[in-house]
Amino acid sequence: GNADIGLIGLGTMGQALALNIAEKGFDIAVFNRTTAVTQDFAAEAGDLAARITPTESLEDLIAALKTPRMILLMVPAGKVVDQQIEALLPLLSPDDLLIDAGNSDFHDTNRRNAELPVQFLGIGVSGGEEGARHGPSIMGGGSRANWNRAAPILTAIAADYQGQPCADWMGEAGAGHFVKTVHNGIEYADMQLIAEVYGVMRDGLGMDAAAIAQVFERWNDGALKSYLVEITAKVAAAEDSATGGPVLDVIADIAGQKGTGRWTAIEAQHLGAPIPVIDAAVTARNISALKDRRTDLQEIFGPGPQPIAGQPDMDLLEQALTCGKILCYDQGFGMIAAASRDFGWSLNSAAIARVWRAGCIIRSAMLDDMAGALEDQPGRPLMAAPFFVDWLTKTQDALRRVVSLAVLHGIAVPAHSAALAYFDAMRTERGTANMLQGQRDYFGRHGFVRLDDGSEDQHGPWAG
Ligand code: NDP
Repeated sequence: GNADIGLIGLGTMGQALALNIAEKGFDIAVFNRTTAVTQDFAAEAGDLAARITPTESLEDLIAALKTPRMILLMVPAGKVVDQQIEALLPLLSPDDLLIDAGNSDFHDTNRRNAELPVQFLGIGVSGGEEGARHGPSIMGGGSRANWNRAAPILTAIAADYQGQPCADWMGEAGAGHFVKTVHNGIEYADMQLIAEVYGVMRDGLGMDAAAIAQVFERWNDGALKSYLVEITAKVAAAEDSATGGPVLDVIADIAGQKGTGRWTAIEAQHLGAPIPVIDAAVTARNISALKDRRTDLQEIFGPGPQPIAGQPDMDLLEQALTCGKILCYDQGFGMIAAASRDFGWSLNSAAIARVWRAGCIIRSAMLDDMAGALEDQPGRPLMAAPFFVDWLTKTQDALRRVVSLAVLHGIAVPAHSAALAYFDAMRTERGTANMLQGQRDYFGRHGFVRLDDGSEDQHGPWAG
């Protein structure tokens, strides 16, 4: 055969990726479990059909490919990926390359990378259907050599940020899917921070959706310029055809989740990496789902939010959101550094920030500044990079004021509160864990380190 790459799984993402690959001038052979889907896809490919070879069996797919072969899997994560690989293996040679582009758990990618008798890459693909069709962000994991084999196609189809492709090798084995996991956690947190500021505007300041839309639209010209702030403005501005009022006012306040943010929170706990803003965002979605209980408790205690008196200050809110966002990213990159250490990956934070600048849901202007800051000071926390030291210094007072106002007026801002507590804890040399160590030694003789002479495994006078 002479197709450059094969693709299995013509679902939403697979079809979009296949068209993207064909459009960039590569010949692609495609296969789907349900043959009718393959036929419809090929029939509707228009101008791109010439570059697309539809196949109706795995044998035909294999025969259509150049050797050594390259096959991209875009099927649901989990068992299906294993089953699909099982079915393919008898048809493959050791130097054929399988690329799992689904949302796989990075532990599965680690396992497959170690066990499979063929070449393997696990790539995180972000940006939804639109991204897959016109330029996703791609986070690659596996051997560098295998990445280099696939890179001509993957960088060609990826989003472009000022001439640079948003596709890169993140590290060995499951590193690509791990980085995608952190991306997803940050996505939850970024969204929650925005939703909290919306809550302060709506419940504290009594602003209507149209006014709120205008504020977010304005913010999208400043430091907060990002896809999420942009769509927030659009969501807030949209009108409901049934009521003639804002769509926002008819959307139930119950958040769905596919569990990707939860993965991030769980992995961070395994790594001992603090990501409290992401934790708060996951918890906020869990709380949102408890609508009936919230309704009952409002009956008992009365509603939380009270109006905030005085002149609304949008700049203060903008600064608080900016501060919270920086602290959330500091946590995400901190988690990446912890994984680098624990898993022996050499994850490059600057390269990761660069890959996130376009194509993915968390794309933003600030990620370009983060890439620069992380590049200049490898191994240092984002918070300690001079550019962000300036920002945090300038905005932390606003975060403090907004959290205080919200707390005093019964408005829950868990992600902002978590960001502020993280900031204060992280810049405090002498914390309060001496008390924890005293307690632990008291009830469990766990021992402590003395501050004055550094001696270890010391016990208090309560011992014995
Ligand atoms: P879809 O449900 O649209 O498509 C799933 C595809 O997998 C179909 O082609 C389906 O074939 C095939 N498939 C399902 N079960 C099996 C099976 N048991 N054996 C063989 N083939 C099977 O999924 P998406 O395209 O949305 O998602 C694919 C992957 O991409 C997932 O891992 C997802 O998490 C990930 N992803 C999705 C994003 C999105 O925005 N949707 C964004 C980023 C990643 P058939 O036609 O026969 O049913």
